[in-house]
Amino acid sequence: MKDDYQIDTLAVRAGQERSQFGEHAEALYLTSSFVFQNAAQAAARFSGGEAGMVYARFSNPTVAVMQERLAALEGAEACIATSSGMSAILATVMALLKAGDHVVASRAIFGATQQLFGNVFTRFGIDTTFVAGNRPESFRAAMRPNTRLVFIETPSNPLTEVYDIAALAGVAHDGGALLAVDNCFCTPILQRPLQLGADLVIHSATKYLDGQGRVLGGAVCGPKAPMEEVFKFLRTGGPSISPFNAWVILKGLETLKIRMQAQSASALELARRLEAHPKVERVYYPGLPSHPQHELALRQQASGGAIVAFEVKGGRAEAWRVVDHCQLLSITANLGDTKTTITHPASTTHGRISAEARAEAGIEESLLRVAVGLEALDDIEGDLQRGLATL
Ligand SMILES: *Cc1c(COP(=O)(O)O)cnc(C)c1O
Repeated sequence: MKDDYQIDTLAVRAGQERSQFGEHAEALYLTSSFVFQNAAQAAARFSGGEAGMVYARFSNPTVAVMQERLAALEGAEACIATSSGMSAILATVMALLKAGDHVVASRAIFGATQQLFGNVFTRFGIDTTFVAGNRPESFRAAMRPNTRLVFIETPSNPLTEVYDIAALAGVAHDGGALLAVDNCFCTPILQRPLQLGADLVIHSATKYLDGQGRVLGGAVCGPKAPMEEVFKFLRTGGPSISPFNAWVILKGLETLKIRMQAQSASALELARRLEAHPKVERVYYPGLPSHPQHELALRQQASGGAIVAFEVKGGRAEAWRVVDHCQLLSITANLGDTKTTITHPASTTHGRISAEARAEAGIEESLLRVAVGLEALDDIEGDLQRGLATL
């Protein structure tokens, strides 16, 4: 595929190779293995001497289309799809790090990612220093001679704190480490970390890439050499994506741009309206001029994204009242869906961390997070207004 096509075109076309039947849509190859013409070809395929499909743990034509399409969108040389976002992070670390290596990660990363770095990798001799806040100097101070990976998510969940990808790539590279960015919240439509100097992009494809809440999936994107290592781990360790899930996700990519644009536009307008509401204490949204990293967000992202967090006046009781008055919004911790979701982070996604740690992270009892979907904005706002009016 011509690589000077625009992102809209790549999202719909990249990676497709038609079979002898000339199918218009991408075919779903629901097969775990592939047949060889003779013994010599089987040997050549297994040794890697001949390109071609072998066994679906590490090769499948449907998965290959998804990988090529996502790589094209991220502007990456290569992409490896995995069974979930978490297994994408697992595969990255297992492939590229070893006992004795050190990781610097932002404190404000996905809960399971924190557990993986903080409790699992430590048992295999890989230690992580978690950095609070988004100041590049704090990351620089955490670097050690054996630091091999810097890991961030931007914007952060749930407070939408924006991290300077170019500056952090500088910090990582000065220390001989790679910068990995979990690009789940923005997707390549709003932010392309590799163009800003990051080395690897991680995705939970479960979120916006599928975008319709159907399947689990993940991916790592980056240059050929590290991705070859990730591929070797996938082939051996097996955190592989189902061809069915890859097919659902690759069809999701075709509408990613129009979904991200529409959901972000609604989120911006919702953020503006909430900021003007007398019962709302504070709104966190990178697209608002009141956001502390608004300038950086404008530089680094195409828009503020589709996640809005806000504090109501009061505490847990008032926040829960807003949640419990919702008739339309789904009360669920998931995000990235066409259906708008609402979460009370302090009692759900961030409920297992201590009250002090939550306070330090700025996650108040009065905080709510809304992941804006495709419903009419007035209906989404009306659902929130119902509860806010009782405060
Ligand atoms: C959901 C999520 C993950 C984990 O993805 P799964 O597909 O659920 O394994 C990782 N990072 C972020 C930012 C997420 O939101």
